[in-house]
Amino acid sequence: MQAEHEAEKPDALKRSMNTAGVPERLQQEILQLAAFHTYPAPGVLIGAFMVDYAMELLGTKKGDKLYGVCETPKCLPDALQVLAHITIGNNRLKVVPIGKFAITMNRPSEGPMADAVRVYVDLEKLRQYPTVDIWYANSPLFDKMNMKGELFDEIFRAGRNIFSSEKVRVPVKQKKKWKSVTCPGCGESVPDYLIEGDRCGACGSMKYYEKA
Ligand SMILES: [Zn+2]
Repeated sequence: MQAEHEAEKPDALKRSMNTAGVPERLQQEILQLAAFHTYPAPGVLIGAFMVDYAMELLGTKKGDKLYGVCETPKCLPDALQVLAHITIGNNRLKVVPIGKFAITMNRPSEGPMADAVRVYVDLEKLRQYPTVDIWYANSPLFDKMNMKGELFDEIFRAGRNIFSSEKVRVPVKQKKKWKSVTCPGCGESVPDYLIEGDRCGACGSMKYYEKA
């Protein structure tokens, strides 16, 4: 794990989590998550408590198959991936770039809709934690160099106390049958449902590189 600040070192994180009374199991997960993320970003630390809370609300245990949506591409996807094994690669993670620090999680469902739980940062509750509050608001009052230790202490002390939750329903993604189609533009193949007209995405609207 990379540590640019004294407070980011695993020993310092451990001390802060012990003082705050974070359960040992969650401490281990938080350290794994920080390592996966390459550093203990405040957002992943908050995300760990968020995923842990949502899993408890769903009554799930480790290893259960779960689906998740996060409402920002920042930090939260990693919390879902490491703590709940809801990953981009297993196609159970959806990232919607709304810009809110919130997640929705659900179990598999046979029907077209699934019961889900949404957990979000509650601004009212956040006021009890002034350092997290100004960091979260991206306020110039937050002094990155001198307030990071206090920020981590407050995040661990707060745990799930800065969240609220609600019951929601989400559509279930249907598995698509597909066949392979060769793009006449590049000669490479893609699933038929991803063809744009008669071209693949890379020869169309998803072009992201040019030949060197
Ligand atoms: Zn093509």
